[in-house]
Amino acid sequence: LTQTAYKPIVGIGIGTPGLVNSSEGVVVNAVNLDWKNLSLARPLQAKYHLPVSVFNDSQAAAMGEFTFGEGNAPESSLIAINLRYGVGAGIIINGQLFHGDGGGAGEIGHVVVQEGGFPCRCGNFGCLETVASTQAVIQRVQMLINQNANSSLTKIDEEISIDQIEQAFKVGDPLSRQIVMQAGHYLGIAISNLIGTLNINRIILVGEMTCFGDSWLDAIQKSMRQTTLSRLAEDTHIEIGQLGPNGTILGASALILKDYSLLFTRNTRQASLIERGNHRGSS
Ligand SMILES: [Zn+2]
Repeated sequence: LTQTAYKPIVGIGIGTPGLVNSSEGVVVNAVNLDWKNLSLARPLQAKYHLPVSVFNDSQAAAMGEFTFGEGNAPESSLIAINLRYGVGAGIIINGQLFHGDGGGAGEIGHVVVQEGGFPCRCGNFGCLETVASTQAVIQRVQMLINQNANSSLTKIDEEISIDQIEQAFKVGDPLSRQIVMQAGHYLGIAISNLIGTLNINRIILVGEMTCFGDSWLDAIQKSMRQTTLSRLAEDTHIEIGQLGPNGTILGASALILKDYSLLFTRNTRQASLIERGNHRGSS
């Protein structure tokens, strides 16, 4: 939360990749950053003298879309899938962020979807992250570029970026199209697993992979329909998030404000209970 002359700071909310222990403010394991048991909250609390809350970035993004996106009733549910360098999901059930027993609810990036697939930084092979993330798309394009002389990407000398792949994809480059559609296919399977487990109808996609737009979304929907019960597929609505890259920041703000307002509510309740006790005592 930014400080202005008129707005007091409630605290600092952080959305970080990886498995997070929010009550301790510790990143237990962030595979792509090589962080293990990293205490994030404590040094920031010491530096800024403010409460610091640490959340998983995908869980924060889900909270951002739920709080600031349109079309969510207070008790509704949704799943936001964050598709960037890594992949993760945040699950909102009946208006509440679902953390799971160990804080890892929605940690779908390291679920294997392609047995015997490419190695992942977590030590497994064929994780969702190795097929559906921006790093996966870039790696595959670079790997196959020499066999695809007709691709416009062969003209790029330096390391290929996701923006260059996006541009090529939008003008119908066959190599980009093949790899992005494959990414969508595996994501559709992952979504089937989520809706088969949770039966949540609203799926929101966020992160850099959303730059591939409607064609990518079509591949995801097609694959989801092929791999789940038709009734569940009919009820499921997959859409691209409304908040863009600010979703995680807004979600971290919403989560810390929620903690703050709960504290306030608890204090008010406690004060009211004490007051009621005093009244009883005096009557
Ligand atoms: Zn993995």
